[in-house]
Amino acid sequence: MSIADFQPLHSGSVPRFAGPSTFMRLPMATPEQVDIALIGVPFDSGTTNRPGARHGPREIRNQSSLVRRVHHVTGVSPFDQVRAGDCGDVVVNPLDLLGALDTISSFFAGVHRAGARPLVVGGDHLITLPVLRGITSEPVGLIHFDAHSDTYDEFFGNRYNHGTPFRRAVEEGLLDPKRMVQIGIRGAISDAENYDFARAAGIRIIFIEEFVERGIDAVMAEARSIVGGARTYVSFDIDALDPSFAPGTGTPEIGGFTTREAQAMVRALAGLNIIGADLVEVSPPFDPSGVTAMTGATLLFELLCVMAGSNAG
Ligand code: MN
Ligand code: MN
Repeated sequence: MSIADFQPLHSGSVPRFAGPSTFMRLPMATPEQVDIALIGVPFDSGTTNRPGARHGPREIRNQSSLVRRVHHVTGVSPFDQVRAGDCGDVVVNPLDLLGALDTISSFFAGVHRAGARPLVVGGDHLITLPVLRGITSEPVGLIHFDAHSDTYDEFFGNRYNHGTPFRRAVEEGLLDPKRMVQIGIRGAISDAENYDFARAAGIRIIFIEEFVERGIDAVMAEARSIVGGARTYVSFDIDALDPSFAPGTGTPEIGGFTTREAQAMVRALAGLNIIGADLVEVSPPFDPSGVTAMTGATLLFELLCVMAGSNAG
């Protein structure tokens, strides 16, 4: 099937409020049919505090009807560069955390075998771990936008939750800590040693204060140099944004990014070797206006644009 078969519904012929609710009004597809597979993972059983991210994919699909085709800065439509389609949701058992991780990793292994790059919508941040298990067997780089490092060891004796995915991924050899950068980290922590693992492993943590001092260009130039030209995954936790822009999330932290800063940072990923990306932690029950899901949908489009513009190898 050709690129012409994977165009979003045009708002000039089918109104935005009509038609089935798919990501960016794209056709439903199988991973075999597309270059970039948009996939929902409606799972939040890894949440340690306020839940609701399981409802993220459905609401982001809804709000993504606002996304248009052509990026206003580049003048390019990602839908003319790659075949992108909505490959549905990974159906997971919310009552079986470890079983859900296996289901998710098996699904993404299939996506990888099909030759598609995943663009994933969570779900809480734990889902990044099984996505990585599915798409790589050797350590890759990571650009991680978040208020939180998510490199804790355990909560309540549980090692698999949304505060631990990046520690597990390093331990499992899925991520190369020397090629990892976390941007936007902030907020009070439970214990003074909470960043010790990340620091000892060599993960570059850019706290929000350093970001404010140095600015987007310098920070993103450093982030690009840390991951280099080798295989890299991008993970965007919506709580990286300030809660005034994105209140609909389980673990908000004030003093975060503006939506404009987030857009500029994602655009600065252009040309990197991106094997997959995710947008996680949108929690519609805390998002009565829908603005957080709309912001998530727009950042998903920005991520799609940088992935479409660069080939992963
Ligand atoms: Mn996170
Ligand atoms: Mn977070």
